[in-house]
Order: sequence, then structure tokens, then C-alpha cells
Amino acid sequence: MVKFQSPTGMHDLFEEDIKQLHKIEKISKDIADFYGYKRIETPILEQTNLFEKGTGMLTDIVEKEMYSLRTKGGDHLTLRPEGTPGIVRAYIEHGMQSLPKPVKLWYMGPFFRHERPQAGRYREFYQFGFENFGVGEPVIDAEIIQIFYLILKELGVKNLIVEINSIGDSQCRPYYKKALTHYLKARQNQLCPNCRRRLLKNPLRVLDCKENKCQAVIKNAPQSLDYLCQECHNHLKSLLEFLDAQAIPYNLNPYLVRGLDYYTRTVFEFKQTGKDEEENQQTLAAGGRYDTLVKLLGGNDTPACGGAGGAERIINIIKRKTEKSPRSKNFEIFLAQVGEMAKKRSLELISEFFQAKVPVKFSLHKDSLTTQLKTAAKLNVKYVLILGQKEVLDGNIILREMKSGKQKNIPLKRVVKEVKKKIKK
Ligand code: ATP
Ligand code: MG
Repeated sequence: MVKFQSPTGMHDLFEEDIKQLHKIEKISKDIADFYGYKRIETPILEQTNLFEKGTGMLTDIVEKEMYSLRTKGGDHLTLRPEGTPGIVRAYIEHGMQSLPKPVKLWYMGPFFRHERPQAGRYREFYQFGFENFGVGEPVIDAEIIQIFYLILKELGVKNLIVEINSIGDSQCRPYYKKALTHYLKARQNQLCPNCRRRLLKNPLRVLDCKENKCQAVIKNAPQSLDYLCQECHNHLKSLLEFLDAQAIPYNLNPYLVRGLDYYTRTVFEFKQTGKDEEENQQTLAAGGRYDTLVKLLGGNDTPACGGAGGAERIINIIKRKTEKSPRSKNFEIFLAQVGEMAKKRSLELISEFFQAKVPVKFSLHKDSLTTQLKTAAKLNVKYVLILGQKEVLDGNIILREMKSGKQKNIPLKRVVKEVKKKIKK
């Protein structure tokens, strides 16, 4: 027999995982409402060239990690590896460019990257993200960083630190690229084959390489901070002042470039500082400014800033702490039924209880009253409703108080109302 398994790096989610996802979604939504970000969900599939152009041809994502397919109609589509290009596409496509600025959007859903699976790195994972279009001021960068800080804090992630860098803009970055290329070229032999190849077209990517030997070269490489033009310098200075004013712990990391091509000026990554090396290295949320992406994807010149958080990585951290969380609330009512006629009437009764929002437990597959009463006792309910053939015919139901064993008949028609009154007490 064939044994089926979920695809490598992709996981079934169960009640507890989904509860955690909902918690992240709820906190994101509360913060989004507070800051005026509107929900958007874009398709899981987009045209492949949206990511090639948006995320960038020379990024790990586009070079190695995309799930791409050709449809029967001949379209080239890709399972979204990240959120921003799709949001920018929707922003342009739906005329949001003419809305008052800033346009604030947020999302949460599954993303797909063909990566080597390991702890905190999956092939299907959930991200929540915030995007802010139309304003180039550094206060927006601070707002985005603050939003992720608050979400992570609200979720109970301790010891947060945000790493910040500025990678300049089209004015100053060419000078930095030149200096970096010069430095790296002189040390090509010490780089991994991938970086040697990237060196010529996109030297900044080398800074993002996780290979040890490349890291050793990067340690002494020229820093973008030393090449910033006046505007970029002021932008960063002002952002850092905003962060100082909010007391968000940050660390200026001159080699942070991020794995996507579209960033301009600010890039940031949230991490947790701690003793565990592995954990330390995991980025929980990240983003930056992308002032040229909207135009690159066919829109007007529109400054923008945003970021995304990885739900699973956050869940891995908060799960460890909330394992001892209290069990779900006890039910107070159990409905027991005896005989075919009562079973049928019970189904109807259950739907009445549901519509009246009165939680009731039941075991419709069981026939014996004794077994059902045992289950009710295990669940520690306050009352059991007992419905037999006689009761159905008389239009009644028995209400038994578990503690005292006292019982009385209630007209079936009024049972939902009566029970509702009882559990309110
Ligand atoms: P990394 O450097 O860890 O590969 P990244 O720079 O590729 O991260 P982003 O594209 O910025 O990640 O995605 C935002 C967040 O989504 C990350 O900070 C991380 O929390 C999460 N994330 C990214 N890739 C994965 C993955 N394969 N599995 C689980 N979470 C992920
Ligand atoms: Mg990655």
C-alpha cells in the first residue's frame, strides 16, 4: 500500500496551532484597526514575472525558492513566496493610487518557498504583513517598526531587538556598490561559488549570504552607512530619533541588506536576544522601505514602507510558554437521548440551542442512558437534559441537576429559554 504523507516542509495544522494563528491574526487586526490599516487578501497564485520583477531576479527567493507552474491555458504562475509584490499589483490595479495618502493595508495568509526545511523554516508558512503607500517620511518607517514591535510584545515575545540599516537610494547606492564590488573582487577566491557569480550583478546579495566563509569576508567589507547621501543620512538619523523616543531597543547593523531586491533606505529585522544561538539567529519579522517598487511594477512614483512577520517562528516561541494554559471552558449542559424518536428530536433541539448560543454537549451515537450519564459526569456538567420516547410524545424533557440529583419536567417548547436562564445564574 502507498503511504501518503504531507509534502516535505508542509504541515497539517491542528486545533492548538490554529488557535495560535488566530491569536496572531486577532492581535494584528486590533493593531491594524487602531492604526487605520485595512485588510487585503490577494490570490495565492500570481504571474511568475511579478515576483521576478518585484522580488528580484538575483534573490534566493526567485533563483531557488519559487514553486512555479504552467497552467493548462499556458499561463506562468507562481505560489506567492512573499506578500509585497501582490499587494503592490493590487494597489495599482484597483486605482488605489488616487486615494488620499497614505494608503494602509495589511494581510495574513500562507506563503510558499522551496527551502531546505529545518526548525522555523518551512515550505509552507504563514506571514502577516503591513504595507504603507504614499509617504516618504521616516516617521512612517517608525510607525511600521512600532506596529511589529507591539504585535510581538502583545504576543508575549520577550527580549526583542530590531536590527536596522540603511542601504541608501539610487543616488548613493551606486557608489557603495562600486566600493563593495572592488573589495569583494579582490577576495573572490574566499567566496562561495554562488557569491562569486552574484558579485558582478548584485554585490549587496553577498552580504546576505549565510555561508561561513562568506561571512568571514563580509566582516571587514565597506559599510553602506559610510556612503549614504545627505538625504538618506538624514532619513536614517530621523528614524533612529523616533525609535529612541519610543524606547524601542535597536541595533544598527551595517551589514543588514535583506534577501529582497526592492528595498531603499531603511531595512529592519526583529530578533529575540537570548542564550540559545539557534533561536538568536531566527528573524521573527522584517521589512523596510521600498520607494521604487510601485513604479517598477507599472505604477506612479510612490514611496512605500512595510514588513512581514513569520507566524510559525513566533508560535514556536510563545507555545513553549503557554503550554500550561487552562483547558477550554466547561460545558454546563449535557443532552442525553434514549430511543430513535428522541434521537431525531435531539438533532432539532441541538440546532435550537446552537441558534440561541447556548453551548450543549451530547453523544448522539450513544444509545444507553447510563453511558451518556457517565460521559456527562466526566464533563462535570451542572445539568443533564434527558429525552426519551415518552417525553417526546408528551412534549416534555427532563432536567436533572447533577449535584442534587433533583429532576423536573420542562415543556420541550420552553427548554432552550429555561436552560438559558439557568446557566446565566
Ligand atoms: P530568512 O533570512 O530567515 O530566510 P527572509 O529574509 O527570507 O528570512 P522574509 O522574506 O523577510 O524572510 O519574510 C518575513 C518573515 O517570514 C521572516 O522574518 C520569517 O519570520 C518568516 N519566514 C521567511 N521564510 C520562512 C520560512 N521558510 N519558514 C517559516 N517562516 C519564514
Ligand atoms: Mg529566506
